[in-house]
This record gives sequence, C-alpha cells and structure tokens, in this order.
Amino acid sequence: MRPASVDAAVTAAAARGGKYIAGGTDLMQLMKDNVEAPDRLVDLEPLPLTRIVADNGSLRLEALARMSDVAAHPAVHERFPVIRQALLASASRQIRNMGTMGGNLLQRTRCGYFRDTGFACNKRQPGSGCPAINGENRLLAILGGSTQCIASHPSDLAVALLALDATVEVRGPNGAQRSVPLHDFHREPGDTPQIDTNLAPDEMILAIVVPETPAARRSHYLKVRDRTSFAFALVSVAVAMQTSHGTIQDVRVAAGGVGTRPWRLPEVEAALHGKKPDDQVLREAAAQAGQGARPASQNAFKLTLLRRTVLRALQTVAA
Ligand code: SF4
Repeated sequence: MRPASVDAAVTAAAARGGKYIAGGTDLMQLMKDNVEAPDRLVDLEPLPLTRIVADNGSLRLEALARMSDVAAHPAVHERFPVIRQALLASASRQIRNMGTMGGNLLQRTRCGYFRDTGFACNKRQPGSGCPAINGENRLLAILGGSTQCIASHPSDLAVALLALDATVEVRGPNGAQRSVPLHDFHREPGDTPQIDTNLAPDEMILAIVVPETPAARRSHYLKVRDRTSFAFALVSVAVAMQTSHGTIQDVRVAAGGVGTRPWRLPEVEAALHGKKPDDQVLREAAAQAGQGARPASQNAFKLTLLRRTVLRALQTVAA
C-alpha cells in the first residue's frame, strides 16, 4: 500500500507482517531470494521526506534522501567529507540513485549463508544454527560476535555517521517520536541475531541528524576491499579530527567490516586526545585498534588490516 502520510505509514506497518520499502535495493533482492516474505509492503516513496538541510549547526538528512543526492550536496562535500566519501565507496551509481538514507542503515548482512536458504542461519531462522562459525567466515566480524552469529554489518554510511555522533529521528504509533544515538541504533547479535536494530517493527526512520563540528570538516573515510569495483568492506575506517595549537582536541574513529555493528574505536581515540599528531603518536594509537577482537578461523588477518587502515586514515587527516 502507498500511505498518504507518515502516520498512515506507521499504522500500516504495525499491521501483522507489514514492512517498509523505499528504494528497495536490498529488500527486493532478499524477496527474490526467498529470504524475506512480508505479507504487506508499505511503500514510502510518496512521502515528502527527501530534504537535505544544513543549517543551525547540523546536517539533517531525511529518510528518503537518495545516496547520490546526499553525496553531491555542496554542504556535505565541504563540511562532512567523510559522509560523501562513504557514500561514493558504497555502491554503483545506479544503486546510489535508488538507495535512501533510511534504507542504508537498515540493510541486512551480506553473510552468504544468510542469503542462501539452502543453509541454516540463526539470523534468518532463529535456532537453526550458524554454519559460518566453522565455515566460510573470511568476510565476517571479529568484534561483537556471539555463539549465535558473527555476521558483519555492511553499511559504509553508518560507520561515517558513527564517527560524527549522528542521531536517528524515528516515529512510532500515535505520533510518538524519539531520537536514537547512532551508537545505540544497531545491535550486537547476542541470543537474538534475527534483530539487527533497536527500532520497534512499526517505527519508521524520519531523518538522520549530524552535528556540525570542526572535526567533521576534517574527516576521512578509507575502505579496503577485495577488488576496486564496488564490493563490501573487508575493513573500513572513518576518522574525524580537530587540532588546536598543534594538539588533538577532538577525534572520533569508527570502523566497518570488522564488527557485527558499526564499531567505534575508543581505545584509539583515547591514545590520541591531547597529543601532537606526529607519526609516532599515530602509529601507537593505531596499534590499539580492535581491543577485544575474537577472530574466527579465516579472518584473523582483519585485525592487522584494521590497524593498518586506521593508521592510513589517521595519517590522511593529520597531514
Ligand atoms: Fe547466519 Fe549470522 Fe551465522 Fe551468517 S554468521 S550464518 S548471518 S547466523
């Protein structure tokens, strides 16, 4: 169905088996592969939620703003380069022309077992098992996994937004509205790997709000992947840094491809605060990345790659 308003969309999604669809770049493929089979689709396309507004000290990206439009926006280019770089690294031009901000945050893992119904998968069918733990896990997470699931989170955009302390505005039934910090938006799998986020099923993303800071202006996204054409990250890193009088006043570092959700690296940030960003300091900080990592049988290389990628990203913003 095509709702005429946000509240009508929320009401329709609250009905049993309802699911939102916008650009459809992920959900349509999941439906073709029989991974998802919603009883009812709530088509958000008619809703006027496509604005990109940069003023009053923040950037507001409405849920249906296209990836390509956000990447091309002058304010994003000048004041939030890490967002533009993450979007351009995310997908082909065709996908960027369709994909939306809200949909990007809600995309599901690319774990091959999840997307192939010929295999068991706890995320697709709770309690069925996780063949990845002792199987093909080279691309999967080294941080935040559980005995139920070690799938890595696929969004590049979410990593950039995490480094910028973004919040997500959501609308629920009866006009209820709340703001969710991005670091609380995605969930680790724990015992419920089928649930990816802390959104209620009928809650809808209205917008993403990013505070404008000096660190956001000096930010960078670096993505490492198996091939240079569009692919999901082996490891990616977003860095935002502000220096004053030669020392680091504010620094945020987040990583993708390594965690079951977008992963902040406070250990790296703590090693940088108040220091002069010389090469020795950057190397020592990067060496801290990934504390608590628990690699699987095929992906221990990601820890080394994470530290090298953090270092390169830090060197780029500090130059
Ligand atoms: Fe399924 Fe998660 Fe295991 Fe992949 S890692 S097979 S998504 S349970």
